Amino acid sequence: MLFIIGGTKIEPTKIVCLGRNYLDHIKETNAPIPTEPVFFIKTLNTLITNNQPIIYPKILYENQEFNRVDHEIELAFIMGHMGKNVAARFAFDYIQGYTIFLDMTARNMQIRDRNIKLPWYRSKNFDTFGPIGPKIIPSSDIDDPHNLDIQLKVNDELRQKSNTKHMLFKIPEIVEYISKFITLKKGDIIATGTPSGIKPIVPGDIIEASIEKIGKITHKVILEGDENSY
Ligand code: MG
Repeated sequence: MLFIIGGTKIEPTKIVCLGRNYLDHIKETNAPIPTEPVFFIKTLNTLITNNQPIIYPKILYENQEFNRVDHEIELAFIMGHMGKNVAARFAFDYIQGYTIFLDMTARNMQIRDRNIKLPWYRSKNFDTFGPIGPKIIPSSDIDDPHNLDIQLKVNDELRQKSNTKHMLFKIPEIVEYISKFITLKKGDIIATGTPSGIKPIVPGDIIEASIEKIGKITHKVILEGDENSY
């Protein structure tokens, strides 16, 4: 799928997301600390870019059991080359650049599905649940992706604030690990996990997510069906 992020065309075949990659987030979700990277796939229908609305699914809004959608801000990188079995020491040679990704999550659905031993798939892959942007900063312009301030505000309230130095598994290990299992293609998007502070959003909210040296994305949350009233 051809997708344009801040003027840069990419052709991702998948979005690979790290789960449980910041200790403070692992604690807030009562999850076990992983001994190797935990990853899952988001589908391409989730992608939107800066200033496009996040559509809050009616099927969640109208179901008390499932009605919670959380923000998760994450540093993402874009693969510049195809890679399989990439050694950690060469990982940075494969990275085109960095950007901001929001791993939007239907939290109650995720918890409920996990509790009955079903996959996370549907809670992660609603349309518009993968905002990305505002642009791709070339890897040559970011000396150290593991020392970037990362923060997210909702309606001007600070919700998530951390630094990418707190990642449990760093980018070279992430590339090495994922590429043992699947071929990473040029254009693929890898999101490196979220710090603590995940909280629900509701229709009408304005989300502003920023990462040092990359910029900021802004997204309004709109209830499905109300798209034309904005
Ligand atoms: Mg996440």
